[in-house]
Amino acid sequence: MRIARFGKGDGVAYGVVDGESGQPQTIAELYGHPFGIDPAGVRFTGERYPLAEVRLLAPVLPSKVVAVGKNYAGHVREMGSAEPPAEPVLFLKPSTSVTGHGDRIAYPVKLTDRVDHEGELAVIIGRLCRDVPKERAEEVIFGYTCANDVTARDLQARDGQWTRAKGFDTFCPLGPWMETAADPADLGITTTVNGDVRQHARTSELLWDVPSLIEFVSSVMTLLPGDVLLTGTPEGVGPMTAGDEVSVTIESIGTLTNRVTVRD
Ligand code: MN
Repeated sequence: MRIARFGKGDGVAYGVVDGESGQPQTIAELYGHPFGIDPAGVRFTGERYPLAEVRLLAPVLPSKVVAVGKNYAGHVREMGSAEPPAEPVLFLKPSTSVTGHGDRIAYPVKLTDRVDHEGELAVIIGRLCRDVPKERAEEVIFGYTCANDVTARDLQARDGQWTRAKGFDTFCPLGPWMETAADPADLGITTTVNGDVRQHARTSELLWDVPSLIEFVSSVMTLLPGDVLLTGTPEGVGPMTAGDEVSVTIESIGTLTNRVTVRD
């Protein structure tokens, strides 16, 4: 089931997206908020809108975005490391970096000369949890979405840690919606810039898979409903410039598209 968050009048609603890309798609509005509800138990208001006529918003407002660095061997090599790290490398992106499908990525040209795309599978947590064994990881996952871990590569190198490089407003596009039924074990993931393929891999190539990451992260910090885990980017990261249209497509989930604009 694909659950989107969208603007409705002056407010916000959730709805279930029906239909496949390329065909007329609609969004059926849900009562309230989907977290904590068994997907089989959602209730509909009866309102239905053409998807093309609603403004999709970031599918969640997380308390935190936990991200994993160097989780595909090809990306480890392109970043100049001979060996993958012995344990997952974690960092946080601020909740204020989150933006939605169709929103702009604001390039802070006065502060950085190199802003890269990093297409990633994002996991959305559905339940408050801590110390989750990987065998039970599925119980705490609400769904999956596409992410772009936008990174100011020059600042990442200069600072020696990644908070500034990955923390700008709009540097965490998420969307277009949450897919609650995907199996994350082997999904194709492709990043394009202006239609040219820059990154392509399968999630079966992850050095640490989704259940292992849930176990690892939840051994450190409590995860809250709506929290987001970015699982790492494959090789092929590279710069974007103002005017570029960048898309992250993940099999059985959808396509997240954003345009890069200049932030003064
Ligand atoms: Mn990343």
